[in-house]
Amino acid sequence: MASIPANEPSFRQSVELMFNRAAALMDLSPGLEEKIRVCNSTYVVRFGVKLRGEIKTFTGYRSVHSEHMEPVKGGIRYAPNVNQDEVEALASLMTFKCALVEAPFGGSKGGLCIDPREWDEDELDRITRRFAYELIKRDLINPSQNVPAPDMGTGEREMAVIADQYARMNTTDINAKACVTGKPIHAGGIQGRIEATGRGVQYALREFFRHPEDIKAANLSGDLEGKRIIVQGLGNVGYHAALFLRDEDGAKITHVIERDGAVHNDQGLDIEALRAHIVATGGVRDFKGGTFIEDGASALEAECDILIPAALEGVINLSNAARIKAPLIIEAANGPITAGADDVLREKGVVIIPDLYANAGGVTVSYFEWVKNLSHIRFGRMQRRQEESRHELIVNELERLSRDTGIGWTLSPDFKQKYLRGAGELELVRSGLDDTMRTAYQAMREVWHDRHDVPDLRMAGFLVSIARVAASYRAKGL
Ligand code: NAD
Repeated sequence: MASIPANEPSFRQSVELMFNRAAALMDLSPGLEEKIRVCNSTYVVRFGVKLRGEIKTFTGYRSVHSEHMEPVKGGIRYAPNVNQDEVEALASLMTFKCALVEAPFGGSKGGLCIDPREWDEDELDRITRRFAYELIKRDLINPSQNVPAPDMGTGEREMAVIADQYARMNTTDINAKACVTGKPIHAGGIQGRIEATGRGVQYALREFFRHPEDIKAANLSGDLEGKRIIVQGLGNVGYHAALFLRDEDGAKITHVIERDGAVHNDQGLDIEALRAHIVATGGVRDFKGGTFIEDGASALEAECDILIPAALEGVINLSNAARIKAPLIIEAANGPITAGADDVLREKGVVIIPDLYANAGGVTVSYFEWVKNLSHIRFGRMQRRQEESRHELIVNELERLSRDTGIGWTLSPDFKQKYLRGAGELELVRSGLDDTMRTAYQAMREVWHDRHDVPDLRMAGFLVSIARVAASYRAKGL
């Protein structure tokens, strides 16, 4: 359930407030500012599917925020509380997210009012196919116009159904697979897409901890090793972020908050076991590896070094912002902090790595998948073995020199193995994602530190991306 209190601006209004704060510092003509702010269109569809002996009617949305670049891009969310306001807010965030990470897309988002847990796989496939049909026939799914991806409540399976439905309706479109991203590998997907958003959160934190000034601003020290982390939502994004930060950076996940409560362990939770428990039981209650906390939301306020909200919007709002103890929050979810809470946290000196940057790993790897589909070849296929043979040449030559000159150097087997291996698709995707997350963070932090009137990374991120969108509109003569 979305939990934005009634006395606070809606999610869309919050995003607009954040946009307005940044736009006020820019030299945009009022007309252009308004053009960039507004959502271009929202299509609402109601369709019926015959299920369990009766016709069930579903309501779906596809919003297009900005078409300064096409196709437009953005996920499709399945949740009972999906509504126009939310979809438009998410579409708008997509515009700025794509601009910030230089993915050449406009912003869009879709949603279906449904609780996917109420339907079995076959039923969900039929519902998805019918929803896709409604969008495809209006070009709201199309490789050159509008390319969806997974979001909350959807995943590879739904994306494969959408791709298949598009192909059936466009039998001569050779680029049909590029109509949607986040597909399974065997249906035109790319290695590393499922993990991408969580992986991006990890890369974002790694980049943050490369800048001593930023670490100090958050009142932290050192690196990710040993940092205590709270994760809300152990779904696709939260699970991967938690897993990588624990296994590869030595952080400790002390709390996981889910729908039915939270689970806590000061020594660090076993993330795989917890995930398996959630999949098996639907929640964190009765998990053996930690203490259960009935009031899950209260765990957002626990002592920690980093808080990762990775579930849904509005969870940090005026009702709890003042009690949040985390000095650093990274918004893995979209819009987890309301505009009011953002002000409170800034006053307290909390550093927030904003959603438009923090969860952009998904759209970045979606961009790679779209390029892969259009080029009809997997990344690395042409150069991998050639790269390996060139490395082998160097290694052989070094070993020969060592032998012939009697120096007696030996290359460690570990070095040789790593150096000799050419990059496959997964390595290339991770490298492209890492580069993207580093570059985008650097663009944001430069503005944050260079301008005295920019108080936080969120405003800096908006400034960078609005300027890019504006430049693109101006280039079109607007
Ligand atoms: P998901 O459906 O895989 O996971 C969401 C998780 O949050 C689930 O485990 C669910 O049980 C939990 N949850 C739901 N309501 C909760 C509540 N009230 N309290 C605590 N936990 C709750 O979704 P996801 O794809 O991981 O997306 C999570 C967030 O990340 C969303 O805001 C989404 O827009 C954003 N996001 C996702 C992607 C992506 O690639 N999947 C990309 C960018 C942003």
